[in-house]
Amino acid sequence: MDMYVVIGGGSAGYVAGSVLGREGKEVVVIEKGKFGGVCVNSGCVPSIFLSDISFLFSRLNEIGNYKGLEISVTDSKGNFFSKRNEIIEYLSNAGKELVKNSGAEVIEGEAKIVSPNEVEVEGKRISFDKLIIATGSIPLKPSIKGIERAISEDEAVNLNYVPSSLVVIGGGYAGVEIAQIYARLGSEVTLITRGKIMKYLDEDGQKIIKDSLEWDGVELIENCEVEEIREQEVVTKKGMRKKGEIVVYATGRKPNFPKGIDKLGIKYNDNGIVVNDLLQTTNSRVYSAGDVIDKEKKVAHVAMLEGIISALNSSGKMERIDYFSVPQVVYTDPQIGIVGNRKLAVKECKFPLSATTRAIIKGLREGYAKIGVDEKGKIVYGEVVADVAEELVNELAIAIKAGMTCKDLALTALVHPSLSESMINACRGFFNLDVDRFKDKNA
Ligand SMILES: Cc1cc2nc3c(=O)[nH]c(=O)nc-3n(C[C@H](O)[C@H](O)[C@H](O)COP(=O)(O)OP(=O)(O)OC[C@H]3O[C@@H](n4cnc5c(N)ncnc54)[C@H](O)[C@@H]3O)c2cc1C
Repeated sequence: MDMYVVIGGGSAGYVAGSVLGREGKEVVVIEKGKFGGVCVNSGCVPSIFLSDISFLFSRLNEIGNYKGLEISVTDSKGNFFSKRNEIIEYLSNAGKELVKNSGAEVIEGEAKIVSPNEVEVEGKRISFDKLIIATGSIPLKPSIKGIERAISEDEAVNLNYVPSSLVVIGGGYAGVEIAQIYARLGSEVTLITRGKIMKYLDEDGQKIIKDSLEWDGVELIENCEVEEIREQEVVTKKGMRKKGEIVVYATGRKPNFPKGIDKLGIKYNDNGIVVNDLLQTTNSRVYSAGDVIDKEKKVAHVAMLEGIISALNSSGKMERIDYFSVPQVVYTDPQIGIVGNRKLAVKECKFPLSATTRAIIKGLREGYAKIGVDEKGKIVYGEVVADVAEELVNELAIAIKAGMTCKDLALTALVHPSLSESMINACRGFFNLDVDRFKDKNA
């Protein structure tokens, strides 16, 4: 029987190993740290846990006012940090147990590639017929004087206290999320970014995030570089000095290649391992999945799908990866969800949450759903700004994957009252059927 080796027990690796285990293959999953990888231990799980807590702190009073309730929320003991740690522990263990439960073997230690068909872990050699590399990514340390005083984004979401002041360097997904979380928990936060904040978003999205950060008291400094990190202080190239008990760099990530990768004769570059749409590398016995791949969307849900596809293909199937319908979310408040490719849209319609009954009941004033279609009316882009954009954008991802047109969605009944109605109303806008909003007579 063929021997399969999966290196890495993160989002991609634990899924790939489990799929092969369930197929009855002889497979080992090798993990050098904790199962669940970045997502569970220092990414999605801790950051979204803290985001939920900071959302509660910030919103309950506001919603209380809106709905005529008196609400007071305090957590002077920071008990939520231990709850976060408990959840991480639970999910990491669950990941390992799921792999074992599938029938795969788990080996703990660092895998090194020692020949074209062998890896070595803790001095023990394991031969493989098929290899899946799922070794993820690590934070990219910027070259700034004093950077050793700063912590990475992975460490920032695992702090066990709320610092009095925090400087975040980097205005991408992780930077803005971390800035907002700690501002809401009580830190004095400065966010410094070399260019514009969230450059992947259009101006609407950037404005929403800027307004939201401003509302939370985050000082945002764009188009500015950090020159030096000193004890409790950051100095910018423009000569500004900002107080930072903690300084966080959220300046991107780089692929984490396993040692000895060159023995496999596969192609890779600064952004990762080169694969085709079957997730096969330039060596037909070696597949790769997750953040270590050379690709655009480095998120956990893609890593998990790649885990499935790399496992199926390494065992003889021919499933192709489709990145077009992959949604992405910025976990700020409000959240911003995007899916598809705006450049392919020839027409767009937008519907505000303020005209959506469920949003009015909830007390949500900002946000919208925007749909973009191609010349045939097929939905090719979706953008949702709402407190649950994470769920709404998934619905648009399904619509895009299914090849639906805006007419299909416009003539679909979704539950009333629900936030999802903002999306069908955006589609109804293409046909002048968005009757829940006041029409702009000048448009
Ligand atoms: C702060 C933050 C927030 C995030 N939030 C989100 C979010 O909300 N939603 C989302 O979708 N994504 C989010 N991400 C991204 C997400 O965490 C990654 O896309 C995902 O973890 C990638 O999974 P992976 O399996 O490719 O890699 P990883 O999770 O990095 O797992 C790789 C694993 O391989 C192991 N490993 C590496 N080398 C070896 C070796 N030689 N031998 C043995 N084991 C090895 C590592 O220890 C690790 O456990 C976030 C990331 C960060 C940093």
